[in-house]
Amino acid sequence: MTAAVRLTELDKWFGEFQVLKKVSIEVSPGEKLVICGPSGSGKSTVVRCIANLEPYEGGALDVLGGEPGAAGRGEVGMVFQQFNLFPHLTVLDNLTLGPIRALGLSRREAEDKAHALLERVKIPDQAAKKPGQLSGGQQQRVAIARALCMEPKVMLFDEPTSALDPEMIAEVLDVMEELAAEGMTMICVTHEMGFAKRVADRIAFMDAGELIEVGTPEQVFTAPKSSRFADFLDKIL
Ligand code: ADP
Ligand code: MG
Repeated sequence: MTAAVRLTELDKWFGEFQVLKKVSIEVSPGEKLVICGPSGSGKSTVVRCIANLEPYEGGALDVLGGEPGAAGRGEVGMVFQQFNLFPHLTVLDNLTLGPIRALGLSRREAEDKAHALLERVKIPDQAAKKPGQLSGGQQQRVAIARALCMEPKVMLFDEPTSALDPEMIAEVLDVMEELAAEGMTMICVTHEMGFAKRVADRIAFMDAGELIEVGTPEQVFTAPKSSRFADFLDKIL
């Protein structure tokens, strides 16, 4: 089976600073990969490269059979820590903008789809509100629905619950778990290790721009190979 996403010795610099050092990993269709690691280790940069939000300087990156961005528009969806919703638009308009502009849907079609997705993320009654009128957990579920409106084949999550109050984390993770159960290919940067145990096929650990170790949850939680990963897990578990 061809990989959904394949990084081959990916190198990236910010000026003189090498932020990614020969990062290699393959994610199969339907696989759920969790990426963890200390702050500044390059996790966001990896997912931003996959989403075609950052260029890279060395190695190769194959996303759905081509360079990032060569896949059809919207085929890679991304959810950010800070939601990144359009604050001046209603929830409904946040969801319909992309499908109308980029997928060529009529307003009616886009709205039907948006309502169905708001149902799926369990906020069917919030369509007319502006993001600022919603809780953080609700805003993040809007962001997930907005990404899903574009019918992505791969979903990227960059610390989607890190900006949320503790009581709202579960409602976002629940939606992500349902998406996982439906077969979505997912790459999730998160330190929610309960989620990782339940959902991840594999967990990757990054440190200082390198992908240090990848293993199944069972492997890494019982016997991580690298001491850096063991130390990291000791701190967060
Ligand atoms: P993580 O998500 O693991 O916390 P990032 O990928 O955000 O790490 O960042 C990795 C490193 O790259 C950090 O040292 C960060 O300061 C640096 N960095 C991130 N974005 C930029 C940028 N646009 N310009 C310069 N340095 C950056
Ligand atoms: Mg980050």
